Amino acid sequence: MASSIDVQITTKKKQKPLQHELGFGIHFTDHMFIMNYAEGKGWHEPRIVPYQPIVLDPAAKVFHYGQTIFEGLKAYKTSDGQVLLFRPDRNFKRLNRSNERLGVPAIDEELALQALKKLIVIDQDWIPTASENSLYIRPFVIATEPALGVDASTQYQFIIILSPVGNYYPEGVNPVKIYVESEYVRAVRGGIGEAKTAGNYAASLKAQENAKEQGYSQVLWLDGVHRKYIEEVGSMNVFFKINGTVHTPALSGSILDGITRSSIIQLLKHWEVPVEESMIAIEDLFNAAKNGQLEEAFGTGTAAVISPIGELNWKDEKVLINGGNTGEISQKLYDTLTGIQRGALPDPFGWMVQVND
Ligand SMILES: *Cc1c(COP(=O)(O)O)cnc(C)c1O
Repeated sequence: MASSIDVQITTKKKQKPLQHELGFGIHFTDHMFIMNYAEGKGWHEPRIVPYQPIVLDPAAKVFHYGQTIFEGLKAYKTSDGQVLLFRPDRNFKRLNRSNERLGVPAIDEELALQALKKLIVIDQDWIPTASENSLYIRPFVIATEPALGVDASTQYQFIIILSPVGNYYPEGVNPVKIYVESEYVRAVRGGIGEAKTAGNYAASLKAQENAKEQGYSQVLWLDGVHRKYIEEVGSMNVFFKINGTVHTPALSGSILDGITRSSIIQLLKHWEVPVEESMIAIEDLFNAAKNGQLEEAFGTGTAAVISPIGELNWKDEKVLINGGNTGEISQKLYDTLTGIQRGALPDPFGWMVQVND
């Protein structure tokens, strides 16, 4: 299957950024993968080409109705030169679940993974080696049919771009301050909150900006109906350790089924730490905090892996968590997960996939 991918290598290699100046999602590698869809033809012309701008008709549906999907995952270079991906099959499965929700035709998951591996091998010199750095992978789909009628597009492009990245938070694994949003909502059950699609982010930017202005780095979202139950934090799933049990919101239909989230749950179960997926009312969380029972809180996602929460603000009431420091479980989860991802620790769950096998 991989052999059917056409490859065009660039003759103009870009200058690579310095490892300590990577930032997040600013620099892109020399090549990209692209594949087209047309009704009657299906997905066709899978190809790797020099990284370049894409030309679209101004009437392309993605610009008007937001029919677009994305994914995010990382590749790591181990100390002995192997290149590893973390559970990439999960990302392509989720891509197709998002596609299904947005009316986009499914992509061959096996072909997508082969294409990704091939692209990474071609651009492997771009994978940073310094610890904390990695190659961020952004697969995405856009509706390209030039027509303003409101219906699902008959043409699409599937593209994969690669970006060498440093730490998502420049300050590293340090607790962040989170603002509990009680006015705006991100998603509702039956909507598109479960899909990794641009609209959810567009809906979140204003609240994120308000939180930033008040000195908070992310927003904690409450459910869209009652503004009572905890959903997610920014673009991460969220966990709370209360009285020795780790709680995370159940997948209710309006939050994203994070791959980091499910890996964390698996790790906690493996360690025999009690973990519960349930509805968590913000009021109960604040009561637990005031009674000294909220021991740790953290967000989880591919970009930051684990992001400890040091302070929460809900309607101007503030609670400090673990004295504003990174908790023991948060640190252990971060060390274990990043250790497995970088090939520095054993991989008992078979999560890692070798790129150059
Ligand atoms: C991507 C994403 C996450 C995290 O998912 P991972 O698979 O762990 O990276 C959580 N919430 C939202 C809204 C997201 O878009």
